[in-house]
Amino acid sequence: MNIVCIGSGYVGSVTGTAFAVLGHKTTVIDINQQKVDLMNSGKSPIFEPGLDELINKYIGNTLSATTSYKVVNDADVIFIGVGTPSKEDGTADLKYIKLAAKSIGENLNPNRFTVIIDKSTVPLGTGDLVSSIITEVSGLEVEKDFAVVSNPEFLREGYALEDVFYPDRVVIGTTNEKAKIVMRELYSNLIERANYEELSKDFVFDYNENAPKTIYFETDIKSAEMIKYASNAFLAVKISYINEIARLSETLGANVLDVAKGMGLDSRIGSKFLQVSSGWSGSCFPKDTAELLVTSQKYGNELSIVKAAVESNERMHHFCVEKVHRELKSLNGKNIGVLGLTFKPNTDDARKTQASTIIKKLIDLGANVKVHDPQGMDMFKSLNPDLEIQYVESPEQVAVNADALVLLTHWDQYLNLNWEQVYNLMRNPFILDTRNFLRELPLSSLGFNYEGIGIGIKEQVKNKQPLFI
Ligand code: NAD
Repeated sequence: MNIVCIGSGYVGSVTGTAFAVLGHKTTVIDINQQKVDLMNSGKSPIFEPGLDELINKYIGNTLSATTSYKVVNDADVIFIGVGTPSKEDGTADLKYIKLAAKSIGENLNPNRFTVIIDKSTVPLGTGDLVSSIITEVSGLEVEKDFAVVSNPEFLREGYALEDVFYPDRVVIGTTNEKAKIVMRELYSNLIERANYEELSKDFVFDYNENAPKTIYFETDIKSAEMIKYASNAFLAVKISYINEIARLSETLGANVLDVAKGMGLDSRIGSKFLQVSSGWSGSCFPKDTAELLVTSQKYGNELSIVKAAVESNERMHHFCVEKVHRELKSLNGKNIGVLGLTFKPNTDDARKTQASTIIKKLIDLGANVKVHDPQGMDMFKSLNPDLEIQYVESPEQVAVNADALVLLTHWDQYLNLNWEQVYNLMRNPFILDTRNFLRELPLSSLGFNYEGIGIGIKEQVKNKQPLFI
């Protein structure tokens, strides 16, 4: 097929590349010339393990990138994968979607049936909005000359290629019979895993003939749009829940690692998304929960569980600051080193991460903050220009004269630090590990004062009331 993929971000670049790998002629369009140039020079516009190699191999072959919408004219299908960030009121800003729809309308071929696919996460009714913009601009008839389909994306940054080639499910929202046929054809290679063994030579992950079958699920467009929001909000609720259990475990003396393990052994619950952290964050959960919540409130059906998860998540960020504060007392003039700025490892995505909230609070309380992240420092810096912090090139440097180290992101690299050197560099060897990630290292025997979350390490935490909640 001739595929156009609009947007070369975390979703667009991966989707476009994956369909090129599967043998379709794929063109990625982005308004950002720099990203287009990067792709055309065989490089990934984002940090995502394995993506560079695949782009490098397929560019100029089945894959190309451009800033021009002219290629829309030849397209059988067009993915829209542009950003849908939050507006001030929490609702999704559809300005990029509207612009993309307008440009599609200006270039759509009247002599062929084209399927336009919303892959971006968009509020219910956006499919109709995209249809009406395209109709208005092109003068073509929706459902006859073109159709708009919802096909939400569920990939995880850091594991994007694996998720795109082996998804649990592909959700297709349309009631247009012609579009259904096109979509089944589009996804047939992926669903059947045709040639995967051969293609897997290029993959960074192992060919997995035993991977669970991908379920191809067809529904109407609004239900598909809702599936994405409902899924993300559910995962956010699950994380907030285990974080609350962690806080209570800490107070009562239980070990949340065993609690989560014991819960996860129940197949109705499952072990995923029961990992304790300083709270969920990133470019998706905050904006998607906000959109769903505000919309539910506008329509008089407030999702009170989602509201509670959002509030609980804020408390979790503050709970981490409070643990540092309890240990160091006044933070005035204290040096704090932060390890990790991205919302999870293996990505450079530093949008809306917990690090910005936590660091801001530490600075408000008078601390001097030094930070390190293997991939996310540039983006974090550009998104948080007002935060007065020192960015350092190596994780060991954050330890110099530090009164506390706070681990926010569980990058593998942090497991392998020279911890003896880190100990010697610190002024006060206190570590707060918000992911319970370093717990198996012999940190206490090296002399560190190590504290995780909800794992019952510190006597002094018991019976203390939270300060910022
Ligand atoms: P992103 O900001 O990384 O990428 C968006 C890209 O679209 C940018 O490169 C931008 O320059 C480009 N763009 C904007 N307007 C354009 C236009 N009119 N024409 C062409 N290009 C244009 O965003 P992302 O993280 O890839 O997210 C895209 C969508 O996918 C969002 O709705 C997001 O919620 C959803 N999503 C993201 C993830 C994720 O892990 N990042 C996962 C699932 C779903």
